[in-house]
Amino acid sequence: MPKDTTLFSLLDRELVRQRTGIELIASENFTSLAVMQAMGSVATNKYAEGYPGKRYYGGCEIIDEIETLAIERLKKVFGASWANVQPHSGAQANTAVFLACLKPGDPILGLDLSMGGHLTHGSPANYSGKHYRAFFYGVHKETGLINYEQLEETARREKPKLIICGASAYSRDWDYKRIRAVADEVGALVLADIAHPAGLIATGVLNDPLDHCHIVTSTTHKTLRGPRGGLIMLRHDFDNPLGAKDPKGNIRSMSAALDLAVFPGMQGGPLEHVIAAKAVAFGEILEDGFKQYTQQVVANAQAMASAFVSRDYHLISGGTDNHLMLIDLRNKNITGKKAQEVLDQAHITLNKNAVPFDDKSPFVTSGIRIGVPAITTRGLRETDMENIVAMIDEVLTHADQPEVVAAVREHVQTMMQQFPLYPELS
Ligand SMILES: *Cc1c(COP(=O)(O)O)cnc(C)c1O
Repeated sequence: MPKDTTLFSLLDRELVRQRTGIELIASENFTSLAVMQAMGSVATNKYAEGYPGKRYYGGCEIIDEIETLAIERLKKVFGASWANVQPHSGAQANTAVFLACLKPGDPILGLDLSMGGHLTHGSPANYSGKHYRAFFYGVHKETGLINYEQLEETARREKPKLIICGASAYSRDWDYKRIRAVADEVGALVLADIAHPAGLIATGVLNDPLDHCHIVTSTTHKTLRGPRGGLIMLRHDFDNPLGAKDPKGNIRSMSAALDLAVFPGMQGGPLEHVIAAKAVAFGEILEDGFKQYTQQVVANAQAMASAFVSRDYHLISGGTDNHLMLIDLRNKNITGKKAQEVLDQAHITLNKNAVPFDDKSPFVTSGIRIGVPAITTRGLRETDMENIVAMIDEVLTHADQPEVVAAVREHVQTMMQQFPLYPELS
């Protein structure tokens, strides 16, 4: 028993919570024990500012091998020619790209937060919207699909320096080639932020952005099933149009500019224990079982989507190509906020989410977002999806009857006992 019983008993309780509930937050997953062991390792003790072979501290020879292993495995996973595994999170990865490609006040173009975009794509609440002039595109009201015409018109009118594609709550694949075409026309770079679907892209289940988009960022903890963190990669390096010169007077390549933007641009010492865990996770992705996992994720998401549709739930875009779906609850007379709260009581965890053209505030919302990466890792299959939808429907249609909610909670706990989580842990 560790000495700090106060803290470690909290961690025990969190383990029980994760084991007993149904985890439907689209951005969450369960890492392997090996990923957690690497994160909780001696690598946390080491300062290693700089990059492999070019550190500001001594004693980095083994850390260099760890970070190089993470980089080489990541390059292999995505067929990239260059990668940086130091960003502490997805948001940090995007910050580094902005720092490398833009000057303060430059125009950028991203998917509107209220249409499924991410805070770091220009939201006024975020540095990306405070330091740059942000313009947005959305989705079509009728179909819920990306409004590429609006993206193109806005790009031609505002001449952004950077066009950002990628989303946090969009259930369809992207036409990266089309975005690149308008970017070339207006002289913009394209950033694909694949934080959510990265694992599905890695195994070829979704379109590959790396040929069409100049720069790709991601988190490592969502469908990539690694530790909490971020990454940046390129398939084709190119001269950074900002044209910053290196000390020898050469124009810096984009890869060099990105390395400098991460460190010393905006981070200090890298989290080498997390980088070690990234190496473990990328190694797992290169193993046979991971492609099967991502195929099961999509099969589960589609089974769940059709179960919702058959119960008269309104899915934005009518379904899903990836690991998540966005549900408009307005025909069910319950808000996103209330749905999240009452499902939490039944130990079904998900998040309220604005739907496109929502008339409610972001604190209330008309919708919920549901993802299946975490329950797929636990081993749930298509038939389980139908059971989960039945339970969600039961709770949402009896939201004011605590005894119904309590009965579903019992059912959830019995169900999840069949899918052991971290049996190696006490
Ligand atoms: C989750 C997410 C991020 C941010 O990741 P953090 O690790 O939470 O900073 C960035 N972009 C998109 C599209 C995301 O979904």
